[in-house]
Amino acid sequence: MDLHKEIYIPKPSPFDPDDLGHFGKFGGRFVPETLMPALEQLRQDYEAVRFDADFWAEVDYYYKHYVGRPSALYYAANISKEIGAKVYLKREDLNHTGAHKINHCVAQAVLAKQLGKKKIIAETGAGQHGVATATVAALFGLECEVFMGAKDVARQELNVFRMKLLGAKVHAVQSGSKTLKDAMNDAIRHWVTHARDTYYLIGTVAGPHPYPMMVRDIQSIIGWEAKAQLQEAEGRLPDKVIACIGGGSNALGVFNHFLEEKSVECIGIEAGGEGLEGRHGCSLEKGSPGVLHGQLSYLLQDDDGQIQEAHSISAGLDYPGIGPEHAYLKDEGIATYNHITDDEALDAFVWLSQKEGIIPAFESSHAVAYLKKMKPEEIKDQLILVNLSGRGDKDMMQAKDILAEQFA
Ligand SMILES: *Cc1c(COP(=O)(O)O)cnc(C)c1O
Repeated sequence: MDLHKEIYIPKPSPFDPDDLGHFGKFGGRFVPETLMPALEQLRQDYEAVRFDADFWAEVDYYYKHYVGRPSALYYAANISKEIGAKVYLKREDLNHTGAHKINHCVAQAVLAKQLGKKKIIAETGAGQHGVATATVAALFGLECEVFMGAKDVARQELNVFRMKLLGAKVHAVQSGSKTLKDAMNDAIRHWVTHARDTYYLIGTVAGPHPYPMMVRDIQSIIGWEAKAQLQEAEGRLPDKVIACIGGGSNALGVFNHFLEEKSVECIGIEAGGEGLEGRHGCSLEKGSPGVLHGQLSYLLQDDDGQIQEAHSISAGLDYPGIGPEHAYLKDEGIATYNHITDDEALDAFVWLSQKEGIIPAFESSHAVAYLKKMKPEEIKDQLILVNLSGRGDKDMMQAKDILAEQFA
């Protein structure tokens, strides 16, 4: 299969939700009544293009000429030698704007444009999704407003500047923990009153139906490419597929085409933060089912159902919820989940930089770190696919502060 010529079109998945967006008991549409018509319209609009060759041909044009797809699959010989397994990195870090998020931004912006919307709004955590959204808004001549927690605005000031430079308006959200979940609340609130001319571009596989399914479909180009690339390089399926999890979009993107393969273990890595006894972002491992941002899924919440603050060194994983499909895959035992602490992620950040000359995003460093956490005898001679969701440029200021002594 020649990925430079082939056009990616989603296929129906055995894990598709029902018409109301339920993955088993998870997902759904828990939103104010006033938002229902807009969501139902979006569901119909998306269903109309979901398997439509013309729609995906237009998306494909931008993937190939603007984003730089297909992204490389790189055999990481040096770390492979060190851990005794064959490790391939799916290089989403090489995409325009530096992460996988541009994939769902391009496809959703093409949809917004076709629907005649004039404005795009988005929530953002690390700022990566905001930058990707501002980028496609500029590309397609759409107005853009981004909602971002004030705490994230402070720790990601370069991304804030990038968004403004690209022509977007950035709202610093002051409520709650001033992070991603609060930004998402405000974006939803804004959309309720502006849905007619405004497209809400959600940045992960979370939110009310149809977003989790739609973003999953779009991001599944990652695993679709990787599967073909591995077939070409090794002539077989991987034994393990590893990805980090914030809301879960890069993970589902790389998992989706492997979930039906019984021989492949898909492993999602949550933000272990200070460790499971301290502050962390492990909604699957430590949370319980509850409603947040229009969906039923695992959540970090206290006994009264109050949402607890997540913590991670990486702003992109610092979210107390998780996409509903992951909640389903976990409960059904179809994918497995684990966590990596801040310290382990930092260690992997330096490890990949020095062993392969690739500086990963803090988020992606969690997936890389898991290579060292697995028992050597368990992975000996295995073929392992790691999704490198983004590059570390955005984390340089933070890394410089934390690692100042180590590299004095
Ligand atoms: C946003 C982000 C993530 C987390 O989002 P998912 O929806 O879980 O993929 C991971 N890596 C990078 C580089 C990001 O920017």
